[in-house]
Amino acid sequence: MKMVINGEWVGSLSDRTYTVKNPANGEAVGPAPLGVRDDVKRAADAAEEALSRWGGTSSHHRGQILTRAAARIREQAEEIAIILTAEQGKPQREAIDEIRGTARVFEYYAGLSSNLTATVQHLEDGSEATVMREPIGVCGAIIPWNMPALLMAWKVGPALLTGNTVVLKPATATPLTPLMLAAALHDVGLPNGVLNVVTGSGDEVGEEIVRSKQIQKVSFTGSTQTGKRIMTLAAHDLKRLTLELGGSDPMIVCGDADIPKAVAGAVAGRFYNAGQICTAVKRLYVVDSVADQVIEQITEKVGQITIGDGMKPEVKMGPLSSLQGRESIRSVVRQVVDREEGRVIAGGELPQGDEYIRGNFYTPTLVTDVVPDSILLREEIFGPVLPIVRVKDLNEAITAANSTRYGLGASIWTSDLKTIRTAVSGLKAGIIWVNQHLKIPPEVPFGGVKESGVGRENGLQSLDAYTEAKTVLVRL
Ligand code: NAP
Ligand code: MG
Repeated sequence: MKMVINGEWVGSLSDRTYTVKNPANGEAVGPAPLGVRDDVKRAADAAEEALSRWGGTSSHHRGQILTRAAARIREQAEEIAIILTAEQGKPQREAIDEIRGTARVFEYYAGLSSNLTATVQHLEDGSEATVMREPIGVCGAIIPWNMPALLMAWKVGPALLTGNTVVLKPATATPLTPLMLAAALHDVGLPNGVLNVVTGSGDEVGEEIVRSKQIQKVSFTGSTQTGKRIMTLAAHDLKRLTLELGGSDPMIVCGDADIPKAVAGAVAGRFYNAGQICTAVKRLYVVDSVADQVIEQITEKVGQITIGDGMKPEVKMGPLSSLQGRESIRSVVRQVVDREEGRVIAGGELPQGDEYIRGNFYTPTLVTDVVPDSILLREEIFGPVLPIVRVKDLNEAITAANSTRYGLGASIWTSDLKTIRTAVSGLKAGIIWVNQHLKIPPEVPFGGVKESGVGRENGLQSLDAYTEAKTVLVRL
């Protein structure tokens, strides 16, 4: 596929392409242009040119385009999901979920089109104060490979609704799904230049988006390390930033929890998308009285996870997105074993068999008896490995849960209201789930505290994130 600049499907000025590979078998999925800095310049020129016309349309009109785009994406869901599985590896069922969820996000923002109102108030000195919302300008969007469709919509939906134009860079591993979504938006009448997609590396295309003087805001989802780099670069001209970074979400299971539900929640929460989700359950804390029961049931369920090529209907967990990602999981588990930081009770190895040889597969892994300073509890582990820790009570669980530099999500599983209140006030996180984990509806703000990010996406807060307030004080 080509990239899209000013409504045209073009190659890179570098004249070079690279091959997108299927992580399940190493086969080529298709070529993508290897973008360079001048491609970002072309895209930013187009976005700048389109800005006043697009920003000058009514929010109702912009909302209608998002509504039509959502319908188009729903029509094409199966087609796009096949490409998503091919380039990313997730099972078809999850890919279809993600594409439908993407349409749902555009529908949500379309529904907000009547909420973009100015406020007027009369002040004590007799002046009239109007606070307007203006688009920020050209917005850069840099997205990762784990949820390339959904995370694109989280940025493009609010940016376009509020009248901004966009230069988007997909992850190198997954450019094709975002390009298909960009095509769907253009099919339903998005004007040229409003959304431009430049494919290519983070070092070249990504950094140029952050450095470009033509781009006023950058919204980024990815690792904490890259987020810090972007914040440093953006400081140069005080670029607006929204950063959704890493997480190491704790899940706490209390003695009075519904155990089968908690077990199902932990397994889905950790192994969905092969564990490559920022808000995956990355640490499981279980109160002693129910720990044996939980461990036994989780072990049984994890044993039932069929791994393989996501196109096969029986497959519940695909490969990791990259070989590098798989190798880093493998070396973390090796370190845990070698340094006796925990006991591997399931998985912890490469799956055996010819069908796995060319893919980045890893078996779903459970580790118990994890020592408090283990890498599994300190760092974000972006793959299918679940450390399980016994705690004596809720207080110990909350202290341990808060002991990382991250603070994206956290969940508490209990049937007691007082326990819920204690956990909600004690846990340091941007989102807290009670008796569930992982669900992120577009209606509510999402983002992290501490090193998990800056700002929020989704919900009404996203309107603030993509607009500048302009205050007008009138005295007649
Ligand atoms: P990453 O390196 O930060 O990549 C994310 C995106 O940033 C990619 O498009 C990447 O391009 C680009 N990029 C890389 N270096 C850049 C730079 N110097 N300047 C500008 N852009 C740059 O992330 P990753 O390690 O591949 O992805 C996994 C991480 O993302 C995990 O830590 C996970 O927690 C985090 N994540 C967070 C959320 C969230 O919502 N908080 C969601 C998903 C993932 P290339 O593809 O070319 O490298
Ligand atoms: Mg990276």
